Amino acid sequence: MARIYNFSAGPAVLPEEVLKEAAAEMLDYNGTGMSVMEMSHRSKAYDTIIKEAEQDLRDLLNIPENYKVLFLQGGASLVFASVPMNLMKNRKAGYILTGQWAKKAFAEAKIYGEAVELASSADKTFSYIPDCSDLPITDDMDYVYICENNTIYGTKFHTLPDTKGKPLVADLSSCFLSEPIDVTKYGMLYAGVQKNVGPAGVQIVIIREDLISDECLPGTPTMMKYKTHADNDSLYNTPPTYGIYICGKVFKWLKKMGGLQAMKEYNEKKAKILYDFLDESKLFKGTVRKEDRSLMNVPFVTGNEELDAKFVKEAKAAGLESLKGHRTVGGMRASIYNAMPMEGVEKLVEFMKKFEKENL
Ligand SMILES: *Cc1c(COP(=O)(O)O)cnc(C)c1O
Repeated sequence: MARIYNFSAGPAVLPEEVLKEAAAEMLDYNGTGMSVMEMSHRSKAYDTIIKEAEQDLRDLLNIPENYKVLFLQGGASLVFASVPMNLMKNRKAGYILTGQWAKKAFAEAKIYGEAVELASSADKTFSYIPDCSDLPITDDMDYVYICENNTIYGTKFHTLPDTKGKPLVADLSSCFLSEPIDVTKYGMLYAGVQKNVGPAGVQIVIIREDLISDECLPGTPTMMKYKTHADNDSLYNTPPTYGIYICGKVFKWLKKMGGLQAMKEYNEKKAKILYDFLDESKLFKGTVRKEDRSLMNVPFVTGNEELDAKFVKEAKAAGLESLKGHRTVGGMRASIYNAMPMEGVEKLVEFMKKFEKENL
């Protein structure tokens, strides 16, 4: 068995230790004689799994008591709709457009009300985070929305916008649990877990209790109301049981690694290896304004499409996979999530140096 270095943006690399544990428990979970996949979500064994997952997540992020944690399904893209359905009381909200995922959320919100563009970095192909210190936020806006880490373009909000007192709603899919955050700064934050935490199909919503209510937009399905899931501890219907179990294992792994501060330091070291090389390379160059660089997704180009394609192909042959940039941007992108080991990034840079020598 040979594992490659997987630089995919998502679904993405998971800690090997977690996969091995899951494999060992596949046929008989903890003496139950069955797989977690085969187990009732109402069973005692499963209840322990989901409760521990929530508690471990609360510990990792230091989530205050007045925030609910919801394990949902439908991917991050379904949250683009559930946010306005649940939060757009005045049918008006502000959106900051920093890439495709923010744009998609913005387009979805327009189905339900007035979504206002507060700022955008579209003028320079989303290669930076716009100044968000004095946005045209009006009193009748229900919330301000951002995509905190832009998976495709490789930018990250290192300072959260001034929302002028409005609840901040943030998509953290590709930076969730990569570093500590102050949950109290958000009204709601959420993540599709397949980027940094677990298998596709699970979404995690962390929301301040006072924002949860029965008064959603008319026609909101029961399953789309945060209140339904909050009132039932994410067990209103059958949740994505196996996915949540794997997320729970990743939470335990993160705790064992020293928690999110330790993870942040590790991620900074890893990213620095790659960014330092990009800054000195004569062939490759990063595409993002330096102060807005993401620790998780690192896009880069040679400036020559044929050479980019050759690089991706030869890297794959060398065991460095999924380095092709997003289909809408081209070039390359290395996603270096929590579970990407330091050696993976070192191997990548070594390979880039060799490629540069051969092709310059
Ligand atoms: C991948 C991604 C999404 C979409 O996730 P799905 O689960 O496929 O709907 C949304 N936002 C961000 C930031 C992402 O990286």
